[in-house]
Amino acid sequence: MASQANESIFHGIPASPGIAIGSALVLARNEFSLEQKKIQSTEVDNEIARFREALGKTRIQIQELQLKIQKILSEKDAKIFDAHLLILEDKTLMDEIEDTVKKDKLNIDYVFSKTIERYIVAISSIEDKYFRERASDIKDVAERVLKNLHGREDVFLDHLPGERVIIAHDLTPSDTAGLDRENVLAFATESGSRTSHTAIMARSMQIPAVVGTRNILTLIKSGDLIIIDGHAGNIIVNPTQETLATYAEKETREQKFYEEMLKENNLRPETLDGFRVQLAANMDKAEEISNAKLYGAAGVGLFRTEYLLINSTGIPSEEEQFSVYSSLASALEGQPVIIRTFDVGGDKLSDVITPHHEANPFLGCRAVRLFREHEEIIANQIRAILRASAFGKVKMMFPMITTAEEIDEFQKIIQKVKEELTLGKIAFDERIEVGIMIEIPSAAIQADHLARKVDFFSIGSNDLVQYAMAVDRTNEKVAYLYQPANPAILKLIKNVVIAARRHKIWVSICGEMAGDPRYTPILLGMGIHELSMTPASIGPVRRLVRSLKMHDAQKLVEKSLSANSAKEVIQMSEELISRVAPDIINLAGTGD
Ligand code: PEP
Ligand code: MG
Repeated sequence: MASQANESIFHGIPASPGIAIGSALVLARNEFSLEQKKIQSTEVDNEIARFREALGKTRIQIQELQLKIQKILSEKDAKIFDAHLLILEDKTLMDEIEDTVKKDKLNIDYVFSKTIERYIVAISSIEDKYFRERASDIKDVAERVLKNLHGREDVFLDHLPGERVIIAHDLTPSDTAGLDRENVLAFATESGSRTSHTAIMARSMQIPAVVGTRNILTLIKSGDLIIIDGHAGNIIVNPTQETLATYAEKETREQKFYEEMLKENNLRPETLDGFRVQLAANMDKAEEISNAKLYGAAGVGLFRTEYLLINSTGIPSEEEQFSVYSSLASALEGQPVIIRTFDVGGDKLSDVITPHHEANPFLGCRAVRLFREHEEIIANQIRAILRASAFGKVKMMFPMITTAEEIDEFQKIIQKVKEELTLGKIAFDERIEVGIMIEIPSAAIQADHLARKVDFFSIGSNDLVQYAMAVDRTNEKVAYLYQPANPAILKLIKNVVIAARRHKIWVSICGEMAGDPRYTPILLGMGIHELSMTPASIGPVRRLVRSLKMHDAQKLVEKSLSANSAKEVIQMSEELISRVAPDIINLAGTGD
């Protein structure tokens, strides 16, 4: 932290570019003191009174929220909260909690959360959509009651009272997906890193963000004037007039730069010596298609369908999925869309599929692994994707592939679903391309074998770096080791590209590396066919591609593969970029 008069500057990891200036809203750390504490007999009545008061307050808050939703949305949407109110009226549950406090002489917070936890586990184990939804309702209500027990003000991130800069310990990807885009100017968090899904979501929503900034929660107060610089990763608190003027000017300059870039949308992403690369869009929500078009994407290189599950009260039916996928395919008017099957787990938790707790969620039941016991969920999704393929150029992709057998299993399911569709005379593209993500080292190493089984590869560098370097992609403490440019990672990527080219299949990269201009010359020089990224990154990458010569890019790859460190690789790449496109270098983040 640096400080001048009242101005303080904190440095974090730049997660989403852009500059925002506004008033801070500091969110309480999402952690409750749930320690078990013994209480005296004389304290029992007080604990129970506190509990009843919290229940009453929660009831009023839910009723107020219901009225608000009824006004903004509809009566039907507001009715969802009836289930929440019913939980508060559940006499058996509430009596059990109060009796335990009286009998065991334990603090109410602990007894309440333990009892609720037991209920949730019991309900979640019932294989029925209705009960899974109830578990998620109970969890929601319990969080509200706990907040009220702790006397915390409730903040609805999806309905903020006016424009604010959010300061939080952490935001989950689902918090971020639900952010009130009108009123959230930017956010800064204490935890997280550049490739956490929260950061990825911020980039696709074009919300400036800085993550991994230690201790800001205790040093920033709600109402402080804040500047968030999402390029440099700076958070400036109570800036001087001079700083404010500098940043206001920077903001204007930046907007102009991006506006100018929009004029280049129709230019071909081709090097000076005529090598072409496809620039596609990554999308988390179907509504982002307007952005993909605005920035001139050549289709969608990654549609993350898991956001249909996150913040949802149930698994969307085949019809609901079909409606999303087919609208997307039609809206793209012949441009391709790669629909990736649900990649839930890791930092993307969904109450409807992943209710249980795992010690190492990134190494656990994530993505395709979740469906070994729920083949019907994946078969339904495959069916919806296949049906949508009759409406445009749809491709299907499986994430987190570890072994060749997994591919064989999916191909069998696809075959079975295709036969059912044919029997039912339901249209689909019989030659639909099926691909896999290469994001686990075992898949990258045996790419040559896997390439025989699929139509394309898409390199998920976000996870490939995480698994190859053994660094949790969301943990700011080890972010210094999260090195996409490490020669070890470059060798893995190169191996995948060689295998794809040898077997004449097409290879793309859809991890965050693809949209960071510092890696563009290297990825281009390796021979990757497509770079798929957050739509707003397409402009700078296109301009850079058009300023490069393939020969220089290939030379850089050669030197990078035998470099000593990621730092050395980035230095060499930045030297090349500053020679051919100096205005692009200022845009690149410095977080990796
Ligand atoms: C990746 O791992 O690079 C990727 C694109 O997938 P996700 O970020 O959704 O894990
Ligand atoms: Mg991934």
